[in-house]
Amino acid sequence: MKIMDIFNGEKTVFSFEIFPPKRDNSIDTIYKTLDELQDLKPDFISVTYGASGSLMDNSTCEIASSIKRNYGLLSAAHLTCVNSSQDEVREVLRRLSDSGVENILALRGDYIPDVPPKEDFKHASDLIEFIKKEGYDFGISGACYPECHLDSDSPVDDLKNLKKKVDAGAEHLISQLFFDNNLFYSFVEKARIAGIDVPIEAGIMPVVNKKQIERMVSLCGASLPAKFTRMMSKYENNPEAMRDAGIAYAVNQIVDLVSHGVDGIHLYTMNNPYIARRINESVRSLF
Ligand code: FAD
Repeated sequence: MKIMDIFNGEKTVFSFEIFPPKRDNSIDTIYKTLDELQDLKPDFISVTYGASGSLMDNSTCEIASSIKRNYGLLSAAHLTCVNSSQDEVREVLRRLSDSGVENILALRGDYIPDVPPKEDFKHASDLIEFIKKEGYDFGISGACYPECHLDSDSPVDDLKNLKKKVDAGAEHLISQLFFDNNLFYSFVEKARIAGIDVPIEAGIMPVVNKKQIERMVSLCGASLPAKFTRMMSKYENNPEAMRDAGIAYAVNQIVDLVSHGVDGIHLYTMNNPYIARRINESVRSLF
C-alpha cells in the first residue's frame, strides 16, 4: 500500500520516524523499540538512511521490510543520493523492491565534510526521476522546510525547487521539525499558492534535553520561540522536568496543528517509545 492512499480526507494521519541502531548496537534493539511502537498503531513508520549512502549498511531496508512483514504496519524507507552513484542507488532500489518495501522518502542527503559528493545526483528531484526511469512503482515522498532549507538563497527559491520535486513525482511531503506552528501555517499557505497540492505532514520533535535540541537546531536552523527557550533555560538541569515540559510542548503543538486541519503529524520518535507513548496517550483521540 502506498502512503499516499492513507491521505483520503477521512482522518489526520499520525506517523512515526525511527532510525537504525548505531553501529555498536545490535539490530535487535530496534525491534524492541518497534514492539512498543506497534501498540500505538501509527499510520506508517519511516526509517532513516545514513547520509553516506553506504551500500554496506542494509539496515534501513531490513527494518522497513520488517515493519511491514512482522508488525503489519505501513513503512517507508528513507533514501539519500548525493553521496551515491547511479549504480549504487540502482542496487539499493533493487533490494528495497525485493524486500517488499513499497514507499521511499527520496532525499538529497547532506554533504559529508571533506568527502566530495558523487556527481550522479544533485537534488532529491534527480533521485525521484531516476526511480521512475528505472521503472519502479514505489510510493514517493519528499522533505520540505517550513523555515527554508539552509542551502537556499530565499524561501521563494526553495518553494520553486519544492514544486520541481513534486512535479518530478513526490506524492507526499514531510516537513523538517519546527517549534513555531505559525511558520508552518504560513509555509503551507504559500506552498498551496505555488501549486503544491500534495499532502504535507508536520514534523514534530519532542525535546528531551537541551544538548539534543542545540545539535538539531545547528543542523537544520529551526528558530526557537521565546516560550520554548524559557522552558529550556528553566528546566535544563532537571532532566525529568525537561522531559515532561518537552512532551507538553509537543502535545500543545500537535493539538493546535490538528485543530488547524493539517494533513498529518510525523513524530520524530528518536527511538524513544516512552515519549511516543506519552504523546500518543495525550493526542490519540484527536486522530
Ligand atoms: P533537496 O530537495 O535536493 O533540496 C536541497 C537544496 O537544493 C534546497 O536548497 C533546495 O531548494 C535545492 N533544490 C532542490 N531541488 C532543486 C532543483 N531541482 N534545482 C535547483 N535547486 C534545487 N538526511 C539523511 O541523511 N538521512 C535521512 O534519513 C534523512 N531524513 C530526513 C527526513 C526529513 C523529513 C527531512 C526534512 C530531512 C531528512 N534528512 C535526512 C535531511 C536531508 O537529507 C537534508 O535536509 C538535505 O540537506 C536536503 O535533502 P532534500 O531531500 O530536502 O534536498
